[in-house]
Amino acid sequence: MKKHGLAKFGQIIGNLAAGHIHDYESIKTPLADWQVEENEPWILYNVNIVDVINGKIKEENSLVISGKKISELAHSKQLEKLKEHYGVKHIFDGKNQYLIPGLSDLHCHLSLISEYKLPANAFYYFDAQREKNCENALKKGCTFARDSGGAYDMIHGLMTKIEENRLLGPKIFPSYQLMTSRHGMWDMGALGMKMGDVLFGGAFGYIAKNLSDVDKFIEKMCSINAKCIKFYLEEKPIYGGRRDQLYNMFSQEMVNHITQKANEYGKVSEAHSMFIKGSRMAIKGRVTSIAHLTVDESYSEKDAYNMAQNNVAIVPTTTLGCYLAMNFRGAESQDNDEFRFYRDMLEKYTKASIQNEILPQLKNSYSAFFDFVREEMPERKMPMVGEVYPERIHGFHTRAPESFANFRKSGTKIGMGTDGGTGLNFAGNLAVEFAAYKRYGLSEAEILKCATINNMEILGLENELGSLDEGKYADMVLIGKNPLTDIEAVQDIKKVYKNGRCYVEND
Ligand SMILES: [Zn+2]
Repeated sequence: MKKHGLAKFGQIIGNLAAGHIHDYESIKTPLADWQVEENEPWILYNVNIVDVINGKIKEENSLVISGKKISELAHSKQLEKLKEHYGVKHIFDGKNQYLIPGLSDLHCHLSLISEYKLPANAFYYFDAQREKNCENALKKGCTFARDSGGAYDMIHGLMTKIEENRLLGPKIFPSYQLMTSRHGMWDMGALGMKMGDVLFGGAFGYIAKNLSDVDKFIEKMCSINAKCIKFYLEEKPIYGGRRDQLYNMFSQEMVNHITQKANEYGKVSEAHSMFIKGSRMAIKGRVTSIAHLTVDESYSEKDAYNMAQNNVAIVPTTTLGCYLAMNFRGAESQDNDEFRFYRDMLEKYTKASIQNEILPQLKNSYSAFFDFVREEMPERKMPMVGEVYPERIHGFHTRAPESFANFRKSGTKIGMGTDGGTGLNFAGNLAVEFAAYKRYGLSEAEILKCATINNMEILGLENELGSLDEGKYADMVLIGKNPLTDIEAVQDIKKVYKNGRCYVEND
């Protein structure tokens, strides 16, 4: 992918370290065969259409697709009439399987690669892994992903390839750069920020010292067509830095300004907050959604009630709990069932994801991080990062149940995202999210709702996406069994459609 400045330099170093002059050419997964011309209508019949809004199977069992959208829901007995009416040449038997709307990952980083113990030649393969991240997300049934931070050249490059059908991948809703406060989280100093360019394939962070910097940032993001304004509201580190360190945070006035300005420009806003202090500022400032769960205190009933009142949604990214389940044997913070749940999830899903979703040339780095998380760490230090604070990272687990209970009690909108691209998380892989939401008491129907229509409502896209209804985009996933009786059914994907075309075919 096209890179500029230091990112380009990084690519050259990576190539030379791997013994190559040219960039790595990855082997891509081919698109599923599809005989239907772009504007030809087609019919899928004999299929159980899942109504995610009402948590039931629709009475209709057929769909007419014209172009990118669903034209009509109907009964199979009207098939002949429909064929004639729409001039349909292609009809497909859904074999009484189940059709759900395309899933979405509302918080991921498609261009990020685990940077744990990377050799210099790894850079040679970064772009290929970025492309694979997109392929993996679509194969897992995610037809939509909000990218919550990544360099413009990388994300835009991936989007273009996907739109031109040169790469399998979800529709991308980009944030591009992330905004943080001076001496806030991710302010790594001038040199550190430049190093970031090399690692991320371009400028990643933006430091706003005052309101005029905020305006400049938002205008810049609008000029490159970012859809979301992402910013940091972090009080303390969960690892790295110093234990007693307090980040300089945006003031409440600045938070209000960021969300208002984003709103004025028709953008959603997302606050990264893992400590309750930042979350309360985000709630007060009416941010569109908060990413992650808190580690120091649960969201109280009052916090959650304020969220519902101010229309602030939560995207908990419970998958983070897996790699935060680091093992400090004997630490008081990990002697509980919540910690053990995430350890189980780590064993159950993460190893398989590394095996299936990571390029062979980068697997060592991911496996080394996996081993680091599993093995006991007496020093409580992470290579290249520094000290880890167990009571903070494990707080993610222990605070989660109460936060979820209060979100549900107050009617806070709950979305779903993985934070894929960071740590040992994988974009579009919602398996841990499903298991965690179930643990926190959500029904199968509620879980499915979070991953589809709730996510779209958070972004204001509910009239176009998020359910299988007339006039919406034909982004759909065909699965073998009923997800309303067992959410695990979503793991068994037969076909993935996007914009009315089949992209992934497994049967
Ligand atoms: Zn993130």
